[in-house]
Amino acid sequence: MAHGTFNVPYPINEPVLSYAPGSPEREALHLTYRTMYNQAPIVVPMYLGAERVTTQDKRPMTPPHEHGKVLGHFSYGTAEHVTQAIDAALAARPAWSSLAWEHRAAVFLKAADLIAGPYRSKINAATMLSQSKNCFQAEIDAACEFADFLRFNAYYAQEIHAQQPESSDGIWNRLEYRPLEGFVFAVTPFNFTAISGNLPAVAALMGNVVVWKPSDTQVYSAQVIMEIFQEAGLPDGVINMITCDGPVAGDVVFKHRDFAGLHFTGSTGVFRHLWKTIGENLELYRSYPRIVGETGGKDFVVAHPSANASAVVTGLIRGAFEFQGQKCSAASRAYVPASLWPAVKAEMVAELATLKMGSPEDFGNFINAVIDRRAFDKIKGYIDFAKNASDAEVVSGGGSDDSVGYFIEPTVIETRNPQFKSMVEEIFGPVLTVYVYDDSTEDAFESVLDLVDSTSEYALTGAIFAQDRYALDLASKKLENAAGNFYLNDKPTGAVVGQQPFAGARGSGTNDKAGSYLNLLRWVSPRTIKETLVSPTDYRYPFLG
Ligand code: NAD
Repeated sequence: MAHGTFNVPYPINEPVLSYAPGSPEREALHLTYRTMYNQAPIVVPMYLGAERVTTQDKRPMTPPHEHGKVLGHFSYGTAEHVTQAIDAALAARPAWSSLAWEHRAAVFLKAADLIAGPYRSKINAATMLSQSKNCFQAEIDAACEFADFLRFNAYYAQEIHAQQPESSDGIWNRLEYRPLEGFVFAVTPFNFTAISGNLPAVAALMGNVVVWKPSDTQVYSAQVIMEIFQEAGLPDGVINMITCDGPVAGDVVFKHRDFAGLHFTGSTGVFRHLWKTIGENLELYRSYPRIVGETGGKDFVVAHPSANASAVVTGLIRGAFEFQGQKCSAASRAYVPASLWPAVKAEMVAELATLKMGSPEDFGNFINAVIDRRAFDKIKGYIDFAKNASDAEVVSGGGSDDSVGYFIEPTVIETRNPQFKSMVEEIFGPVLTVYVYDDSTEDAFESVLDLVDSTSEYALTGAIFAQDRYALDLASKKLENAAGNFYLNDKPTGAVVGQQPFAGARGSGTNDKAGSYLNLLRWVSPRTIKETLVSPTDYRYPFLG
């Protein structure tokens, strides 16, 4: 037991380095990228307790921008490996869950310092290679957001522990924040290294043990996360990394009595399927599992006629096309008034022509490749659909090339149909669809807000651009439930831990706000303790007399 009430170092967002020509970070990152690119193919094991398990079923890891290049292989596991991971987690639970919380926090604070320091280039280069992010996108994700998650979470844990009930005369009331009874299953997406590391880490910070399944297309950077956790002193078995087919893992996990929580980020369809499976197995579990899922989006940008056209263009280009539109928060549908559209269109088309596309190794490239063949085909399908449609036209981009890597040009579709397929469905690629609305009538803006609110099943992010304060107020009210993260005169992407807690509602998830104390509360099951200092010794209340 601790002999003190300790204060976590006050968290400050990790400064984003510029990677400007001539900067030391640029040189270091470039060198690390080249070294990792040229090294002999690596073999990534599964981390099952103290064991590093490889199998005969090896899957290649290739950069999306160069699918012919093999960086290494990871071992695909089976149901037995999933069971082994659960057993390892449960074996680690007694020691980890009873370790004083400041020691758990120190492990993750050390991991944050390793990420921000000696591992910065490595985790960024791994993210550039495996997810095809340019240096800046890798920096804000793998280095900064990840370090921020770990540091802010430690601080939030301290604040949560400090939340204690009132006591009264002769009574001392206490609240204990126990980890969940069992293990947590963390299932992570390909697109953010920070999310991938945070989902298992935040549960472990609160004393839980975790079985973590990263996405097949993120394993190359996931293994760097495990390396960092190991170096930070995370005991074996606390976070167990399995690499296998999702349904194979789910089949074992969701039938296990000790399954205590799901921490998921990924697509809406998969999340709904997992939730249903958990519901069907409810009688099997010791407790009601916690279900946290942050999922898809169809994120909007609305321009009011008073908006600054260049601000709208910049918000759209950055919001829709950074990381090839593969952010859950990426702008993918825009509503631009007819009075503003000629200026917005002309400037946007001219600016998009200046974006360079290619490997992230060339730091001049703004656009890199989309994650894999499946994504390439799906995104191209939406573009082809627009090319052949009578109520839409491609006004910029539209090209693609998969000969070396999975490259798709940033594409803008203009439509006269507000329910056009690409206005409604999540594409998860560099495709922005613009609906140009007639703003000649007085209630045009209000009507378009109704349209924005009702067009998609999602409610993740959204942005409104206007100089008119009444328009900003109206949009804030009418779109109250249309986005969990709502932006005024800014792009809808780039949430910063501790500043803009991130998540959405409706079809976009359970809105448990990564990067805030709200998420941590899902991984504890509080115990209330009442201690009576001098116990009564006679059952008779005064009223009985
Ligand atoms: P995905 O749903 O394809 O995969 C996510 C994870 O689920 C992967 O690890 C995958 O292997 C696993 N999985 C798939 N089927 C499974 C099953 N039946 N059982 C168990 N696990 C299974 O998502 P993705 O393509 O990796 O990521 C993109 C999606 O994630 C987009 O929809 C995006 O909007 C969403 N996303 C949301 C947020 C957010 O905070 N709301 C953040 C990032 C990504």
